[in-house]
Amino acid sequence: MASAPRAPLYLGLDLSTQQLKAVVIDGELRVVHQSGVQFDAELPEFRYRSYKPDSISWKALDLLLDKMKRAGLDFSRVRALSGSGQQHGSVFWRRGASETLKHLDPDQDLHQLLQDSFSVSDSPVWMDSSSTQQCEDLQAAAGGALRLAEITGSRAYERFTGNQIAKLRQTRAEELQDTERISLVSSFAASLFLGGYAAIDYSDGSGMNLLDIRTRNWSEICLQATAPHLDQLLGAPLPSTSVLGPVSSYFVHRYGFSESCSVVAFTGDNPEGTRLLDASAMLVRKGGGARDRLQCFRCFVISSFKNGSLTRERVRNECAGASWELFSAALRDTPLGNHGNIGFYFETMEITPPVIGVHRFDSADCEVSSLSPQVEVRAVVEGQFLSRRLHAERLGYSIIPGTRVLATGGASSNKEILQVLSDVFNAPVYTIDLSDSTCLGSAYRALHGQCAHSFYFEKPALDCLVSELLESFSLKREEKERT
Ligand code: ADP
Repeated sequence: MASAPRAPLYLGLDLSTQQLKAVVIDGELRVVHQSGVQFDAELPEFRYRSYKPDSISWKALDLLLDKMKRAGLDFSRVRALSGSGQQHGSVFWRRGASETLKHLDPDQDLHQLLQDSFSVSDSPVWMDSSSTQQCEDLQAAAGGALRLAEITGSRAYERFTGNQIAKLRQTRAEELQDTERISLVSSFAASLFLGGYAAIDYSDGSGMNLLDIRTRNWSEICLQATAPHLDQLLGAPLPSTSVLGPVSSYFVHRYGFSESCSVVAFTGDNPEGTRLLDASAMLVRKGGGARDRLQCFRCFVISSFKNGSLTRERVRNECAGASWELFSAALRDTPLGNHGNIGFYFETMEITPPVIGVHRFDSADCEVSSLSPQVEVRAVVEGQFLSRRLHAERLGYSIIPGTRVLATGGASSNKEILQVLSDVFNAPVYTIDLSDSTCLGSAYRALHGQCAHSFYFEKPALDCLVSELLESFSLKREEKERT
Protein backbone atom coordinates (compact mmCIF):
# COMPACT_ATOMS: atom_id res chain seq x y z
CA MET A 1 0.00 0.00 0.00
CA ALA A 2 1.45 3.40 -0.96
CA SER A 3 1.87 5.97 1.81
CA ALA A 4 -0.48 8.97 2.08
CA PRO A 5 0.71 11.96 0.03
CA ARG A 6 1.66 14.07 3.07
CA ALA A 7 2.71 11.24 5.40
CA PRO A 8 6.04 11.86 7.14
CA LEU A 9 9.21 10.43 5.65
CA TYR A 10 12.58 9.51 7.13
CA LEU A 11 15.87 9.93 5.30
CA GLY A 12 18.92 7.69 5.74
CA LEU A 13 22.28 8.49 4.14
CA ASP A 14 25.45 6.48 3.79
CA LEU A 15 28.72 8.18 2.99
CA SER A 16 30.83 5.15 2.12
CA THR A 17 34.22 4.71 0.55
CA GLN A 18 33.03 4.67 -3.02
CA GLN A 19 29.65 6.32 -3.03
CA LEU A 20 27.04 8.42 -1.26
CA LYS A 21 23.67 6.71 -1.01
CA ALA A 22 20.24 7.69 0.27
CA VAL A 23 17.16 5.70 1.24
CA VAL A 24 13.85 7.28 2.21
CA ILE A 25 11.24 5.33 4.16
CA ASP A 26 7.76 6.11 5.38
CA GLY A 27 6.42 5.54 8.90
CA GLU A 28 5.58 1.92 7.98
CA LEU A 29 9.25 1.31 7.11
CA ARG A 30 8.48 1.04 3.41
CA VAL A 31 11.24 2.24 1.10
CA VAL A 32 9.79 5.07 -1.00
CA HIS A 33 12.95 6.43 -2.62
CA GLN A 34 16.55 5.42 -3.28
CA SER A 35 19.36 7.44 -4.87
CA GLY A 36 23.12 7.39 -5.04
CA VAL A 37 26.21 9.13 -6.35
CA GLN A 38 29.16 6.98 -7.47
CA PHE A 39 32.28 9.03 -6.81
CA ASP A 40 34.42 7.55 -9.58
CA ALA A 41 31.77 7.74 -12.26
CA GLU A 42 29.97 10.94 -11.32
CA LEU A 43 32.73 13.05 -9.81
CA PRO A 44 35.58 12.23 -12.19
CA GLU A 45 37.74 15.08 -10.88
CA PHE A 46 38.11 13.03 -7.70
CA ARG A 47 38.93 9.78 -9.46
CA TYR A 48 41.46 7.73 -7.51
CA ARG A 49 41.00 10.10 -4.57
CA SER A 50 37.60 8.80 -3.72
CA TYR A 51 38.52 7.85 -0.19
CA LYS A 52 39.02 11.40 1.01
CA PRO A 53 35.89 12.45 2.84
CA ASP A 54 36.69 16.14 3.27
CA SER A 55 37.27 16.88 -0.39
CA ILE A 56 34.41 14.93 -1.81
CA SER A 57 31.50 14.78 0.57
CA TRP A 58 29.91 18.15 0.07
CA LYS A 59 30.17 17.91 -3.70
CA ALA A 60 28.55 14.49 -3.65
CA LEU A 61 25.92 15.77 -1.22
CA ASP A 62 25.00 18.69 -3.50
CA LEU A 63 24.71 16.25 -6.39
CA LEU A 64 22.68 13.69 -4.46
CA LEU A 65 20.15 16.17 -3.07
CA ASP A 66 19.75 17.76 -6.52
CA LYS A 67 19.09 14.31 -7.97
CA MET A 68 16.51 13.52 -5.30
CA LYS A 69 14.77 16.85 -5.85
CA ARG A 70 14.67 16.26 -9.61
CA ALA A 71 13.21 12.81 -8.97
CA GLY A 72 10.31 14.54 -7.21
CA LEU A 73 11.13 13.85 -3.58
CA ASP A 74 9.29 16.35 -1.41
CA PHE A 75 11.87 17.20 1.26
CA SER A 76 9.27 19.06 3.31
CA ARG A 77 7.85 15.65 4.30
CA VAL A 78 11.14 14.48 5.80
CA ARG A 79 10.55 14.56 9.54
CA ALA A 80 14.00 13.27 10.56
CA LEU A 81 17.24 12.26 8.92
CA SER A 82 20.27 10.32 10.00
CA GLY A 83 23.23 8.67 8.35
CA SER A 84 26.43 6.74 8.52
CA GLY A 85 29.94 7.28 7.26
CA GLN A 86 32.94 5.13 6.58
CA GLN A 87 34.44 4.20 9.93
CA HIS A 88 37.86 5.48 10.97
CA GLY A 89 37.93 8.45 8.58
CA SER A 90 38.42 11.86 10.19
CA VAL A 91 37.91 15.47 9.15
CA PHE A 92 39.75 18.46 10.64
CA TRP A 93 37.83 21.75 10.70
CA ARG A 94 39.91 24.92 10.48
CA ARG A 95 39.53 27.70 13.08
CA GLY A 96 36.49 29.78 12.17
CA ALA A 97 34.72 26.95 10.33
CA SER A 98 31.86 26.80 12.85
CA GLU A 99 30.90 30.35 11.89
CA THR A 100 30.99 29.41 8.21
CA LEU A 101 28.79 26.38 8.92
CA LYS A 102 26.28 28.52 10.80
CA HIS A 103 25.84 31.02 7.98
CA LEU A 104 25.76 28.98 4.79
CA ASP A 105 24.28 30.92 1.87
CA PRO A 106 21.57 28.76 0.25
CA ASP A 107 22.29 30.29 -3.16
CA GLN A 108 25.72 28.70 -3.26
CA ASP A 109 26.97 25.10 -3.40
CA LEU A 110 28.42 23.54 -0.24
CA HIS A 111 31.46 22.94 -2.39
CA GLN A 112 32.05 26.70 -2.84
CA LEU A 113 31.12 27.56 0.72
CA LEU A 114 33.29 25.07 2.55
CA GLN A 115 36.41 24.70 0.45
CA ASP A 116 38.56 26.70 2.90
CA SER A 117 37.14 25.19 6.06
CA PHE A 118 39.60 22.35 6.60
CA SER A 119 42.97 22.51 8.30
CA VAL A 120 44.32 19.09 7.27
CA SER A 121 44.28 18.18 3.61
CA ASP A 122 44.03 14.51 2.64
CA SER A 123 42.71 13.57 6.05
CA PRO A 124 43.21 9.98 7.24
CA VAL A 125 40.89 7.12 6.27
CA TRP A 126 40.46 3.48 7.28
CA MET A 127 43.09 2.23 4.82
CA ASP A 128 45.88 4.15 6.52
CA SER A 129 48.26 1.83 8.36
CA SER A 130 51.16 4.22 8.91
CA SER A 131 50.79 4.87 12.63
CA THR A 132 52.43 1.76 14.10
CA GLN A 133 54.78 3.81 16.28
CA GLN A 134 51.89 5.83 17.71
CA CYS A 135 50.00 2.58 18.44
CA GLU A 136 52.97 1.28 20.39
CA ASP A 137 53.23 4.57 22.27
CA LEU A 138 49.55 4.52 23.18
CA GLN A 139 49.70 0.94 24.41
CA ALA A 140 52.76 1.77 26.51
CA ALA A 141 50.97 4.78 28.02
CA ALA A 142 47.85 2.74 28.80
CA GLY A 143 49.80 -0.09 30.43
CA GLY A 144 49.79 -2.60 27.57
CA ALA A 145 47.54 -3.82 24.78
CA LEU A 146 45.23 -5.72 27.11
CA ARG A 147 44.73 -2.73 29.39
CA LEU A 148 44.03 -0.50 26.39
CA ALA A 149 41.49 -3.06 25.17
CA GLU A 150 39.85 -3.05 28.60
CA ILE A 151 39.47 0.73 28.42
CA THR A 152 38.62 1.34 24.78
CA GLY A 153 37.38 -2.07 23.63
CA SER A 154 40.32 -2.56 21.25
CA ARG A 155 44.06 -2.92 21.26
CA ALA A 156 45.76 -0.11 19.32
CA TYR A 157 45.05 -0.15 15.60
CA GLU A 158 46.79 2.04 13.03
CA ARG A 159 43.61 3.23 11.33
CA PHE A 160 41.90 4.27 14.58
CA THR A 161 41.53 8.04 14.75
CA GLY A 162 43.38 8.55 18.05
CA ASN A 163 46.57 7.11 16.59
CA GLN A 164 46.11 9.11 13.41
CA ILE A 165 45.77 12.29 15.47
CA ALA A 166 48.92 11.40 17.44
CA LYS A 167 50.76 11.01 14.17
CA LEU A 168 49.50 14.37 12.88
CA ARG A 169 50.63 16.01 16.11
CA GLN A 170 54.13 14.68 15.50
CA THR A 171 54.38 15.22 11.76
CA ARG A 172 52.00 18.07 10.86
CA ALA A 173 51.76 20.04 14.09
CA GLU A 174 50.89 23.34 12.42
CA GLU A 175 47.88 21.89 10.65
CA LEU A 176 46.65 20.39 13.89
CA GLN A 177 47.15 23.70 15.68
CA ASP A 178 44.95 25.43 13.12
CA THR A 179 42.18 22.94 13.93
CA GLU A 180 39.02 23.99 15.76
CA ARG A 181 37.21 20.66 15.76
CA ILE A 182 37.83 17.05 14.75
CA SER A 183 34.92 15.07 13.30
CA LEU A 184 34.61 11.48 12.17
CA VAL A 185 33.13 11.06 8.70
CA SER A 186 29.79 10.34 10.37
CA SER A 187 29.73 13.41 12.62
CA PHE A 188 31.16 15.48 9.75
CA ALA A 189 28.18 14.62 7.55
CA ALA A 190 25.79 15.32 10.44
CA SER A 191 27.51 18.71 10.96
CA LEU A 192 26.74 19.68 7.37
CA PHE A 193 23.02 19.08 7.96
CA LEU A 194 23.04 20.65 11.39
CA GLY A 195 24.90 23.82 10.42
CA GLY A 196 27.14 23.33 13.45
CA TYR A 197 29.45 20.73 14.93
CA ALA A 198 27.68 17.43 15.54
CA ALA A 199 28.66 15.14 18.42
CA ILE A 200 30.53 11.91 17.76
CA ASP A 201 28.20 9.04 18.70
CA TYR A 202 29.26 6.29 21.13
CA SER A 203 29.26 3.64 18.46
CA ASP A 204 31.61 5.30 15.98
CA GLY A 205 33.54 6.85 18.87
CA SER A 206 34.40 3.41 20.19
CA GLY A 207 36.55 2.81 17.08
CA MET A 208 39.03 5.55 17.92
CA ASN A 209 41.15 4.10 20.75
CA LEU A 210 40.00 7.13 22.74
CA LEU A 211 36.59 6.35 24.24
CA ASP A 212 36.28 4.62 27.59
CA ILE A 213 33.57 2.11 26.71
CA ARG A 214 32.43 1.80 30.33
CA THR A 215 32.04 5.47 31.25
CA ARG A 216 31.20 6.39 27.64
CA ASN A 217 33.39 9.41 27.86
CA TRP A 218 36.84 10.15 26.49
CA SER A 219 39.52 8.29 28.42
CA GLU A 220 41.84 10.69 30.23
CA ILE A 221 44.82 8.34 29.75
CA CYS A 222 44.22 8.05 26.03
CA LEU A 223 43.57 11.76 25.54
CA GLN A 224 46.79 12.68 27.27
CA ALA A 225 48.82 10.16 25.32
CA THR A 226 47.39 11.44 22.02
CA ALA A 227 47.33 15.25 21.92
CA PRO A 228 46.90 18.20 24.30
CA HIS A 229 43.38 19.64 24.81
CA LEU A 230 41.98 16.88 22.66
CA ASP A 231 38.67 16.73 24.52
CA GLN A 232 37.92 20.28 23.34
CA LEU A 233 38.66 19.32 19.75
CA LEU A 234 36.43 16.25 19.94
CA GLY A 235 33.39 17.59 21.84
CA ALA A 236 31.35 15.35 24.17
CA PRO A 237 30.23 11.99 22.71
CA LEU A 238 26.49 11.17 22.66
CA PRO A 239 24.24 8.09 22.23
CA SER A 240 23.57 7.06 18.63
CA THR A 241 19.85 7.78 18.95
CA SER A 242 20.34 11.39 20.08
CA VAL A 243 18.38 14.08 18.29
CA LEU A 244 21.07 16.70 17.65
CA GLY A 245 18.77 19.51 16.59
CA PRO A 246 16.83 20.79 13.58
CA VAL A 247 18.24 20.80 10.06
CA SER A 248 20.07 24.04 9.19
CA SER A 249 18.34 26.86 7.33
CA TYR A 250 20.63 26.18 4.34
CA PHE A 251 18.75 22.92 3.64
CA VAL A 252 15.39 24.51 4.44
CA HIS A 253 15.87 27.25 1.84
CA ARG A 254 17.83 25.35 -0.75
CA TYR A 255 15.99 22.02 -0.81
CA GLY A 256 12.70 22.72 0.96
CA PHE A 257 13.30 20.73 4.16
CA SER A 258 10.91 21.58 6.97
CA GLU A 259 12.34 23.76 9.75
CA SER A 260 11.27 21.09 12.21
CA CYS A 261 13.11 18.23 10.46
CA SER A 262 15.39 16.63 13.09
CA VAL A 263 18.97 15.55 12.59
CA VAL A 264 19.57 12.31 14.51
CA ALA A 265 23.20 11.44 15.34
CA PHE A 266 25.10 9.82 12.48
CA THR A 267 27.23 6.73 13.12
CA GLY A 268 29.84 4.45 11.52
CA ASP A 269 28.90 2.28 8.56
CA ASN A 270 30.07 -1.00 10.10
CA PRO A 271 27.96 -0.74 13.26
CA GLU A 272 24.99 0.54 11.23
CA GLY A 273 24.72 -2.37 8.80
CA THR A 274 25.40 -4.92 11.52
CA ARG A 275 22.86 -3.44 13.90
CA LEU A 276 20.10 -3.50 11.31
CA LEU A 277 20.64 -7.18 10.55
CA ASP A 278 21.03 -7.95 14.20
CA ALA A 279 17.75 -6.23 15.03
CA SER A 280 15.97 -8.10 12.24
CA ALA A 281 17.32 -11.47 13.33
CA MET A 282 16.39 -10.88 16.96
CA LEU A 283 12.87 -10.02 15.90
CA VAL A 284 12.54 -13.20 13.90
CA ARG A 285 13.89 -15.33 16.70
CA LYS A 286 11.86 -13.86 19.52
CA GLY A 287 8.86 -12.23 17.82
CA GLY A 288 7.24 -8.85 18.77
CA GLY A 289 8.27 -6.43 21.52
CA ALA A 290 10.30 -4.03 19.46
CA ARG A 291 10.90 -1.76 22.36
CA ASP A 292 13.04 -4.37 24.13
CA ARG A 293 14.59 -5.66 20.96
CA LEU A 294 15.76 -2.27 19.79
CA GLN A 295 16.93 -1.21 23.20
CA CYS A 296 19.09 -4.25 23.80
CA PHE A 297 21.57 -3.62 20.99
CA ARG A 298 23.77 -1.57 23.18
CA CYS A 299 27.09 -3.36 22.66
CA PHE A 300 28.48 -5.77 20.18
CA VAL A 301 31.87 -6.87 18.91
CA ILE A 302 33.14 -5.91 15.45
CA SER A 303 36.15 -7.54 13.80
CA SER A 304 37.37 -5.98 10.58
CA PHE A 305 39.12 -7.61 7.63
CA LYS A 306 40.93 -5.91 4.79
CA ASN A 307 41.29 -8.69 2.23
CA GLY A 308 37.64 -9.06 1.30
CA SER A 309 35.82 -7.67 -1.72
CA LEU A 310 38.90 -6.23 -3.40
CA THR A 311 40.69 -9.59 -3.25
CA ARG A 312 37.63 -11.36 -4.67
CA GLU A 313 37.48 -8.72 -7.40
CA ARG A 314 41.09 -9.36 -8.38
CA VAL A 315 40.47 -13.13 -8.62
CA ARG A 316 37.27 -12.43 -10.55
CA ASN A 317 39.23 -10.28 -13.02
CA GLU A 318 41.98 -12.84 -13.47
CA CYS A 319 39.96 -16.05 -13.39
CA ALA A 320 36.40 -15.18 -14.37
CA GLY A 321 36.69 -12.61 -17.16
CA ALA A 322 35.87 -9.73 -14.77
CA SER A 323 32.29 -11.01 -14.50
CA TRP A 324 30.42 -11.82 -11.29
CA GLU A 325 28.19 -14.16 -13.34
CA LEU A 326 31.22 -16.23 -14.41
CA PHE A 327 32.59 -16.04 -10.87
CA SER A 328 29.29 -17.45 -9.58
CA ALA A 329 29.27 -20.11 -12.29
CA ALA A 330 32.73 -21.26 -11.15
CA LEU A 331 31.38 -21.61 -7.61
CA ARG A 332 28.41 -23.63 -8.90
CA ASP A 333 30.66 -25.88 -10.98
CA THR A 334 33.10 -26.75 -8.18
CA PRO A 335 32.23 -28.88 -5.15
CA LEU A 336 32.24 -27.90 -1.52
CA GLY A 337 35.77 -28.58 -0.25
CA ASN A 338 37.24 -27.86 -3.69
CA HIS A 339 38.62 -31.42 -4.11
CA GLY A 340 41.05 -30.69 -1.29
CA ASN A 341 42.53 -27.55 -2.86
CA ILE A 342 42.74 -24.64 -0.48
CA GLY A 343 44.10 -21.09 -0.53
CA PHE A 344 44.71 -18.13 1.77
CA TYR A 345 44.78 -14.75 0.11
CA PHE A 346 46.17 -11.96 2.25
CA GLU A 347 47.36 -9.58 -0.43
CA THR A 348 47.75 -6.67 1.93
CA MET A 349 48.57 -6.88 5.63
CA GLU A 350 45.40 -8.30 7.18
CA ILE A 351 43.91 -6.76 10.30
CA THR A 352 42.69 -10.02 11.84
CA PRO A 353 44.99 -11.98 11.89
CA PRO A 354 47.91 -9.63 11.12
CA VAL A 355 49.43 -11.68 8.30
CA ILE A 356 50.38 -11.06 4.69
CA GLY A 357 50.91 -13.45 1.79
CA VAL A 358 49.09 -15.66 -0.71
CA HIS A 359 49.39 -19.42 -0.21
CA ARG A 360 47.73 -22.16 -2.25
CA PHE A 361 47.81 -25.88 -1.44
CA ASP A 362 46.72 -28.78 -3.64
CA SER A 363 44.89 -31.91 -2.55
CA ALA A 364 48.21 -33.49 -1.47
CA ASP A 365 48.82 -30.48 0.84
CA CYS A 366 51.72 -29.32 -1.33
CA GLU A 367 52.09 -25.55 -1.75
CA VAL A 368 51.55 -24.61 -5.41
CA SER A 369 51.94 -21.31 -7.23
CA SER A 370 48.63 -21.45 -9.09
CA LEU A 371 45.33 -23.29 -9.34
CA SER A 372 43.04 -23.67 -12.32
CA PRO A 373 40.75 -20.61 -12.71
CA GLN A 374 37.59 -22.33 -11.43
CA VAL A 375 39.39 -23.88 -8.47
CA GLU A 376 41.02 -20.56 -7.67
CA VAL A 377 37.61 -18.85 -7.51
CA ARG A 378 36.33 -21.37 -4.97
CA ALA A 379 39.63 -21.34 -3.09
CA VAL A 380 39.50 -17.60 -2.46
CA VAL A 381 35.91 -17.65 -1.19
CA GLU A 382 36.31 -20.80 0.93
CA GLY A 383 39.63 -19.52 2.26
CA GLN A 384 38.11 -16.19 3.34
CA PHE A 385 35.18 -17.82 5.12
CA LEU A 386 37.36 -20.50 6.75
CA SER A 387 39.46 -17.69 8.13
CA ARG A 388 36.32 -15.95 9.49
CA ARG A 389 35.09 -19.16 11.10
CA LEU A 390 38.47 -19.84 12.67
CA HIS A 391 38.55 -16.31 14.03
CA ALA A 392 35.02 -16.59 15.43
CA GLU A 393 35.86 -19.89 17.12
CA ARG A 394 39.04 -18.48 18.58
CA LEU A 395 36.94 -15.71 20.09
CA GLY A 396 34.86 -18.39 21.77
CA TYR A 397 31.89 -18.71 19.42
CA SER A 398 30.79 -22.23 18.62
CA ILE A 399 28.56 -23.24 15.77
CA ILE A 400 25.61 -24.88 17.51
CA PRO A 401 22.13 -25.78 16.22
CA GLY A 402 20.26 -22.52 15.79
CA THR A 403 23.34 -20.51 14.85
CA ARG A 404 22.61 -17.98 12.13
CA VAL A 405 25.04 -16.07 9.97
CA LEU A 406 23.94 -12.59 8.89
CA ALA A 407 25.38 -11.18 5.67
CA THR A 408 25.26 -7.63 4.36
CA GLY A 409 27.12 -5.30 1.97
CA GLY A 410 27.69 -5.45 -1.78
CA ALA A 411 28.72 -9.12 -1.98
CA SER A 412 25.64 -10.31 -0.09
CA SER A 413 23.67 -10.04 -3.34
CA ASN A 414 25.67 -13.02 -4.64
CA LYS A 415 23.82 -16.24 -3.76
CA GLU A 416 26.71 -18.51 -4.72
CA ILE A 417 29.02 -16.67 -2.32
CA LEU A 418 26.34 -16.93 0.38
CA GLN A 419 26.07 -20.67 -0.25
CA VAL A 420 29.79 -21.11 0.39
CA LEU A 421 29.40 -19.02 3.56
CA SER A 422 26.54 -21.23 4.64
CA ASP A 423 28.51 -24.40 3.87
CA VAL A 424 31.63 -23.29 5.70
CA PHE A 425 29.69 -22.24 8.81
CA ASN A 426 27.25 -25.13 8.49
CA ALA A 427 24.50 -22.67 9.36
CA PRO A 428 21.74 -20.77 7.54
CA VAL A 429 22.75 -17.38 6.19
CA TYR A 430 20.37 -14.44 6.42
CA THR A 431 20.51 -11.36 4.29
CA ILE A 432 18.14 -8.56 3.33
CA ASP A 433 16.62 -7.73 -0.03
CA LEU A 434 18.24 -4.34 -0.04
CA SER A 435 22.03 -4.59 -0.05
CA ASP A 436 22.18 -0.97 1.21
CA SER A 437 21.53 -2.10 4.75
CA THR A 438 23.68 0.71 6.13
CA CYS A 439 21.54 3.33 4.47
CA LEU A 440 18.34 1.63 5.49
CA GLY A 441 19.61 1.31 9.05
CA SER A 442 20.19 5.06 9.06
CA ALA A 443 16.64 5.72 7.89
CA TYR A 444 15.34 3.46 10.70
CA ARG A 445 17.44 5.31 13.21
CA ALA A 446 16.06 8.61 11.94
CA LEU A 447 12.57 7.25 12.59
CA HIS A 448 13.53 5.67 15.89
CA GLY A 449 15.45 8.72 17.11
CA GLN A 450 12.52 10.95 16.22
CA CYS A 451 10.02 8.90 18.21
CA ALA A 452 12.30 7.47 20.92
CA HIS A 453 10.96 9.88 23.52
CA SER A 454 7.31 9.27 22.89
CA PHE A 455 6.70 5.80 21.49
CA TYR A 456 8.39 2.82 19.94
CA PHE A 457 7.76 0.94 16.73
CA GLU A 458 4.24 -0.41 16.73
CA LYS A 459 3.42 -4.02 15.91
CA PRO A 460 2.44 -3.53 12.22
CA ALA A 461 5.74 -1.80 11.57
CA LEU A 462 7.52 -4.70 13.23
CA ASP A 463 5.77 -7.28 11.15
CA CYS A 464 6.74 -5.28 8.12
CA LEU A 465 10.35 -5.15 9.27
CA VAL A 466 10.45 -8.88 9.65
CA SER A 467 8.60 -9.96 6.57
CA GLU A 468 9.90 -7.43 4.10
CA LEU A 469 13.51 -7.18 5.14
CA LEU A 470 14.74 -10.46 6.29
CA GLU A 471 15.09 -13.05 3.62
CA SER A 472 16.47 -16.40 4.60
CA PHE A 473 19.12 -17.81 2.39
CA SER A 474 18.60 -21.10 4.09
CA LEU A 475 20.97 -23.96 4.38
CA LYS A 476 19.97 -26.42 1.72
CA ARG A 477 22.77 -28.86 2.32
CA GLU A 478 20.58 -31.90 2.96
CA GLU A 479 18.45 -31.09 -0.07
CA LYS A 480 21.51 -30.49 -2.19
CA GLU A 481 22.97 -33.78 -1.12
CA ARG A 482 19.72 -35.58 -1.86
CA THR A 483 19.54 -34.21 -5.41
P1 ADP B 1 31.33 0.12 0.27
O1 ADP B 1 30.50 0.30 1.50
O2 ADP B 1 32.80 0.03 0.55
O3 ADP B 1 31.01 1.09 -0.84
P2 ADP B 1 29.61 -2.11 -0.51
O4 ADP B 1 29.13 -2.77 0.73
O5 ADP B 1 28.65 -1.24 -1.24
O6 ADP B 1 31.00 -1.36 -0.26
O7 ADP B 1 30.11 -3.26 -1.48
C1 ADP B 1 30.77 -2.97 -2.67
C2 ADP B 1 31.47 -4.25 -3.11
O8 ADP B 1 30.52 -5.28 -3.35
C3 ADP B 1 32.21 -4.09 -4.42
O9 ADP B 1 33.54 -3.68 -4.18
C4 ADP B 1 32.14 -5.49 -5.03
O10 ADP B 1 33.36 -6.19 -4.85
C5 ADP B 1 31.08 -6.22 -4.25
N1 ADP B 1 30.04 -6.76 -5.12
C6 ADP B 1 29.09 -6.07 -5.79
N2 ADP B 1 28.30 -6.90 -6.52
C7 ADP B 1 28.77 -8.16 -6.29
C8 ADP B 1 28.38 -9.48 -6.76
N3 ADP B 1 27.37 -9.66 -7.60
N4 ADP B 1 29.10 -10.53 -6.32
C9 ADP B 1 30.11 -10.35 -5.45
N5 ADP B 1 30.52 -9.17 -4.99
C10 ADP B 1 29.86 -8.06 -5.40
